[in-house]
Amino acid sequence: MAGKKIFIAGHRGLVGSALCRLYGKMTGWEVVTRTRAELDLQDTDAVRKFFGEEKPSHVILAAAKVGGIHANATHHVEFLLENMRIQNNVIEFAARSDVEKLLFLGSSCIYPKHCPQPIKEEYLLSSALEPTNEGYALAKITGLKLCQHYCRQYGKDFISAMPSNLYGPNDNFDLETSHVLPALIHRFHLAKLNEQPTVTVWGTGSPLREFLHVDDLAGGIHTLMEKYDEDLPINIGVGKDVTILELAEIIKETVGFGGELEWDSSQPDGTPRKLLDTSRINALGWKPRMTLREGIRNTYEWFKEHYQE
Ligand code: GDP
Repeated sequence: MAGKKIFIAGHRGLVGSALCRLYGKMTGWEVVTRTRAELDLQDTDAVRKFFGEEKPSHVILAAAKVGGIHANATHHVEFLLENMRIQNNVIEFAARSDVEKLLFLGSSCIYPKHCPQPIKEEYLLSSALEPTNEGYALAKITGLKLCQHYCRQYGKDFISAMPSNLYGPNDNFDLETSHVLPALIHRFHLAKLNEQPTVTVWGTGSPLREFLHVDDLAGGIHTLMEKYDEDLPINIGVGKDVTILELAEIIKETVGFGGELEWDSSQPDGTPRKLLDTSRINALGWKPRMTLREGIRNTYEWFKEHYQE
């Protein structure tokens, strides 16, 4: 069998870098990547030319503009426009250049704000979205629908995976624009170094979130690339969630901060809960390996080695 050539779009990001770690060590796969300077995925002509010349057989679309609750809630236009441009270009030209299989990465925030928990794939578009990330969610919904219609109308093997909140090496650790887990690792680390008495955590601490380490996600994505070809999006998660208060306590212990937590209720809580029902991917034989404590320890080690103040 000829080797497979996989284009990992977004290879410098949280998800793409985990996929490169995995596919880079697997035999039979040639990994193709492009930096943003080499290939602007928002540029239609450049993407058309790339697919025409490189002709990958497989594509994982992990390139996206992403951010935490504050970034999302204040930049709906940019999250909507940039993500739609990237995914329209990559999905359309992957189809035109006869890519055998494409996996599009969505997010658990595409589901309605008040849906029954755990969230089954079929709840998509059953009621209104969480307003703090509507721009991002709408772009992602359009991407997964485009894949679904390519499957149905043109018989393409283009699938979509919906992960829960992700974390791990190469995450964005910025204090304002990142997601909660990297933001808190950074904030507790600074507080410990500066011997501060308190650390501020946003919201009320009561929202529930499910966190999946990206190395586990990469394994799940590979399972789907090998075994899944249905046009219904499929969830990837750990099947268990924690409150933001519980998360903050684990990070506090991992970092070794001895002070107190302070809550900033002027910041939004976002959706109260988004626990994914993962029975469909579990039935394919995949489940995550890392506990949340192990994953946070691994991520904090990476942060200490790589982060420059
Ligand atoms: P979400 O899952 O889309 O809401 O994204 P986030 O990871 O940004 O936020 C998750 C929850 O963590 C929300 O309830 C936030 O209010 C809360 N949170 C607490 N502290 C922080 C923080 O420092 N940064 C972020 N981004 N969220 C925080």
